Amino acid sequence: MTSCYIIIARDFFYFYFVFVKTYNSIAEIQSDLFDNKFTVTELTKSYIDKIESKKHLNIFLEVFEKSAVEKAALVDEKIKSKNAGRLAGVVISIKDNICYKNHKISASSTILDSFESLFSATVVERLLAEDAIIIGRTNCDEFAMGSSNENSAFGNVLNPLDENRVPGGSSGGAAAAVAADLCLVALGTDTGGSIRQPASFCGVVGLKPTYGRVSRYGAIAYASSFDQIGPLAKNIEDIALIMEIMAGGDNYDSTAASSTVPTYSKFVNDIIPKTRIAYIKDCLENEGLDPEIKSRINEVIIKLKSEGHIVEEVDFPYLDYLVPAYYVLTTAEASSNLSRYDGITYGYRSPNATDLESTYKKSRSEGFGIEVQRRIMLGTFVLSSGYYEAYYSKGQKVRRLIQNKTNEILNNYDFILLPTTPGTAFKFGQKGEDPIAMYLEDIFTVQANMTGIPAISLPIGKHSNKMPFGIQVMAKKFAEQELFCFSKHLMNSF
Ligand code: GLN
Repeated sequence: MTSCYIIIARDFFYFYFVFVKTYNSIAEIQSDLFDNKFTVTELTKSYIDKIESKKHLNIFLEVFEKSAVEKAALVDEKIKSKNAGRLAGVVISIKDNICYKNHKISASSTILDSFESLFSATVVERLLAEDAIIIGRTNCDEFAMGSSNENSAFGNVLNPLDENRVPGGSSGGAAAAVAADLCLVALGTDTGGSIRQPASFCGVVGLKPTYGRVSRYGAIAYASSFDQIGPLAKNIEDIALIMEIMAGGDNYDSTAASSTVPTYSKFVNDIIPKTRIAYIKDCLENEGLDPEIKSRINEVIIKLKSEGHIVEEVDFPYLDYLVPAYYVLTTAEASSNLSRYDGITYGYRSPNATDLESTYKKSRSEGFGIEVQRRIMLGTFVLSSGYYEAYYSKGQKVRRLIQNKTNEILNNYDFILLPTTPGTAFKFGQKGEDPIAMYLEDIFTVQANMTGIPAISLPIGKHSNKMPFGIQVMAKKFAEQELFCFSKHLMNSF
């Protein structure tokens, strides 16, 4: 009898201890883990309980309870035999467009109904090899198309900081999961801002790596020449470690660069004195920019100048062309990428179809949501003969001009500083009816995807409406190491 009470008391103690404590970094969690304050199994279960208690936020489409708890037990054994990987005790969520073998994946779309992945994305393999726990798949805009998560076939994700507001998108579930502490790190994808914009809306850090730094193998394609997988977390150190593990060449993705991955997690060199920083005048003077975000960026500029850095205004004459060119090119790529969802190969097939043609028509009309259909139509139009030259070709030329100008700026400066988003998280329904208003959400984020450079959103702003907002820093291609050092400096200073 006595021993029975002891066991209950011990379990209660551990449950309570792990459950109430919010961990803010991998280092903090591993310090307690290696001090035997709890096991990975207990930690994993506490996250699962927390996810359950916040179910109304609709962040997770599925919790991988069985595989997560099994993996946790294995990691506990490895800790005992002192050969655990670098991500022991790190609980990570994956956006519902990143494959995990033998687990469901839907890209938040009805068209992939009941589809189970036959292989894991390279990033998932690499994280698992370092003993991360993949806790579940997070809700997102359907096929990563959107800026508010309102395009998911499985309902809205609520922003944990204000449940009347959107979490951003398309990786809305990922950002909300980190903000609500339902996992320590989340993986998202970013084609035009889908990691950085929700990170800004939820007050977390979000990185879009250089195009080609991280393998896209196993990420469901939206616009292949723009898409990148990247992490969302609470601090730069965690982002750096996750990148160090995920990045690098991959035989399964010919666009993944095989150049050496620096040890991002070692912050040996602090920010260089007299760092050269540019800010784009037209961004700060954009009429859509919230005045409080503008004044926060000005504060950052003044502080950096006072530290002796060179911070200068630069011209970028293409701001108004970014969003239109992005939507011409990405919809073109999407119309091609999404042609594989035909009601035959896999996923949803309409029960109302009677022949081959009606199988295509009905499965695609019933399986895809309205925004995805709009983009497939638009993309098909800009690629169709007679319009190809006028739209797609022209879009490519605009992309080249934008790349040239951005490279010219980055030849003279180490970083470009700009807002992540024009405003803070908006209320549900506020922009949903007007696609153009929604597309303009991407005005500051798409430049990095059009050009392939890395960009990070740092949660160093707080609005009088009590919502957070991010400040964005862009760097030269493959300059993630420098970007992390500079970001850490900004995070420490503000
Ligand atoms: N909001 C942008 C879009 O809807 C970005 C999406 C993304 O980065 N996946 O295309």
